[in-house]
Amino acid sequence: MGGSLIDSHKRVHRSLRISVVDKCDLRCTYCMPEDQLFLPKKDLMTREEIETIARLFVERYGITKIRITGGEPLVRPDTVDIVRDLIALHVKVGITTNALSLHKHIDELIDAGLKSVNVSLDTFDAERFKKITRRDGFRIVHGNILLALERGLRVKVNMVVMRGVNDDELLRFVDLTREHDLHVRFIEFMPFAGNKWGRERVYTYSEMLGHIGSVHSFEKLDDDPHSTAKAYRVPGWKGTFAVISTVTEPFCGNCDRLRLTAEGKMRNCLFSRDETDLLTALRNGEDLAPLIEANVLGKHAMLGGLPQFKPECEEEVLHDLSTRPMVSIGG
Ligand code: SAM
Ligand code: SF4
Repeated sequence: MGGSLIDSHKRVHRSLRISVVDKCDLRCTYCMPEDQLFLPKKDLMTREEIETIARLFVERYGITKIRITGGEPLVRPDTVDIVRDLIALHVKVGITTNALSLHKHIDELIDAGLKSVNVSLDTFDAERFKKITRRDGFRIVHGNILLALERGLRVKVNMVVMRGVNDDELLRFVDLTREHDLHVRFIEFMPFAGNKWGRERVYTYSEMLGHIGSVHSFEKLDDDPHSTAKAYRVPGWKGTFAVISTVTEPFCGNCDRLRLTAEGKMRNCLFSRDETDLLTALRNGEDLAPLIEANVLGKHAMLGGLPQFKPECEEEVLHDLSTRPMVSIGG
């Protein structure tokens, strides 16, 4: 296959998301089923195994961006070391976190060379936060977003917008971009195993723009060709906002992303139903290259082969979903 990972739809892959742990200190209803079981430690990739696999993707296949995710990456004790190892591969490294313990690790993360952080926050109401995450923590997460900005990190705030749950808070999140140079991303609620998804619970991209546009005028910004988000700005405001419209306007045509679960299973799409066990192969001393290349060649044109998320396809989508909840894929 040569130096790049190119699939049968001619998409070149430059971005790898690595889940470092499937555990989490929150229990977001849209991400983790109540009865979720977690992997024993021996099944997780070790720090060294993560470095070995990542190095192969970078040095042999030209991956230029790695995002560390989970579960909650900061519940794993050696995540800062993993960040340091990956930065040493000379790629762009980011982390996606619920920020519940970011204040405990921020100095070390900055010291390791981290420049940006994506933080998930779905509400500004402490009681609602408890309902959505099944845990307490709004004040800490909000404080840690401000801390990350103070410390000079580039900050993106991810909000999963669900009809009847938090769709009345969009403007509050847009307001964040008035005073702060940060990037808010409104994510359409996506279907995963055990998250009680229904098309009627999705607050859509067009509804979001209509809602924001009823109060603010805003301008469209240029998007990176591989970006999952469509970006906007209220003229004169410091920050920007964007919508990730996976459900109503999927963006698979330019997808350049691959994924590795915490137990070393490679997935070529968030919605894949197939995965390739790289960790067992590594532990058996096998060559990973043919496995990686075959996995990429098997990538479907759209949504891991699911039908589009149109209302008439809802039953089929729910029937065909991968058995993994989001928390064990790594978003
Ligand atoms: N624990 C970290 C966090 O919450 O940022 C990282 C892992 S989390 C699975 C990664 C991202 O996936 C978060 O921004 C989360 O909001 C998003 N996510 C989880 N389930 C989702 C769903 N059903 N629809 C849309 N986004 C989802
Ligand atoms: Fe945990 Fe992130 Fe999933 Fe919430 S979205 S349960 S914080 S992994």
